[in-house]
Amino acid sequence: MNPETASKQSITIGRGKANHIVVPTLSITEVHARVVRHPSREGDTYWLEDNNSSNGTYVNDFRIVRRRLQPDDQVRIGNQVLTYRRLIKAFSRNPDDYTREFAELEGIWEDYIALKEQLENRNLADQVSDLTVGVPLIGLALGRLLGAERSARKKRELAELEAQMTQVYACPKCGTPFPLTRDSSFRMLLQRSVNQKQGHCLAGCGAIWTI
Ligand SMILES: [Zn+2]
Repeated sequence: MNPETASKQSITIGRGKANHIVVPTLSITEVHARVVRHPSREGDTYWLEDNNSSNGTYVNDFRIVRRRLQPDDQVRIGNQVLTYRRLIKAFSRNPDDYTREFAELEGIWEDYIALKEQLENRNLADQVSDLTVGVPLIGLALGRLLGAERSARKKRELAELEAQMTQVYACPKCGTPFPLTRDSSFRMLLQRSVNQKQGHCLAGCGAIWTI
């Protein structure tokens, strides 16, 4: 069985980002529960299974281990109530729809900008302290040397940061990195999606994201 068919037979709910339905709350286990589809000629049936979670999975306020879902069931995991409709909808997600993963790039971009600023500002502070060393000649020479070392270190650290970014600030399907320019800041990527109602990977892998 290929993984796509396999993944369509069950969906997972949990705190981890790899789940089909992500509930980012501490009281929820990494992979908290799953819904398994049993195809049948009379109509598919869906079974909810608790994945040995710490705080339990509830259907209509009863804690369950495994239970067949009915259309009017209310599933509760932590404080999150999930309707039958929402759970079933997760099965029909277009396999090329990377909206959820794409949205995670916002935090990655913000972290990048913050780290970059931190790197640059720290260096500025170092340079200011060089000027206050106060010992003439030798202090100045040392200051220059340290300054050169620091700017080399800064370049190296920036390069490391950028190398890490190309791993994570990338198309969520094919991994093609987005350039680290203002034109591909998360806001700009999103803006492009707004104009077209749907964003897509420019490398042509077929991944799409909607807003
Ligand atoms: Zn792609």
